[in-house]
Amino acid sequence: MKIGIYPGSFDPITLGHLDIITRASGLVDQLIIGVLVNNAKKPVFTSEERVELIERVIKDHPELPPIKVEAFEGLLVNFAKKKNASVIVRGLRAITDFEYELQLAQTNHKLCPDIDTVFFTTRLEYSYLSSSAVREIASFGGNIRQFVPECILQSVYDKYSSIRSVNHGSKQN
Ligand code: ADP
Repeated sequence: MKIGIYPGSFDPITLGHLDIITRASGLVDQLIIGVLVNNAKKPVFTSEERVELIERVIKDHPELPPIKVEAFEGLLVNFAKKKNASVIVRGLRAITDFEYELQLAQTNHKLCPDIDTVFFTTRLEYSYLSSSAVREIASFGGNIRQFVPECILQSVYDKYSSIRSVNHGSKQN
């Protein structure tokens, strides 16, 4: 059985991620989405929230095969080995992604030669799309409907309104 890991921050999941998930799930027998717990990156959504948002999106797409979603800490290759994965899936948006992704893939291959990285080139309509752009727009109350799956839209807005009320409260104190 060919097991693939699609790792990332998914802070939050976007339509670009969903496109890669859809295409990658047809390539392997079992796709595991690995949600990176990296507190140094200070994610807006906790790892539990990010896992839950992805699970909700998958549930909303019954045409997808069963996909697991798990948070992981530490080295990606260790997580991949633990899961018996032979493939790491990554998305390539633009030439700017290439240098970083190439370095990552080659390092991971050195660490674990049994695991190969497979790249999916982004669908053109999502090539500009990133979680950080979604966070930026949502933080100013802008329209993110065309960037994130419909079923998580409200949760993203709710997150930012709770952040705004916390910030507003702390300014008043
Ligand atoms: P990371 O912090 O590891 O880059 P991301 O959640 O930003 O995590 O991205 C995870 C993976 O999804 C990466 O391979 C990234 O290139 C890919 N990706 C991000 N946004 C898009 C998009 N709009 N279209 C396709 N792939 C994407």
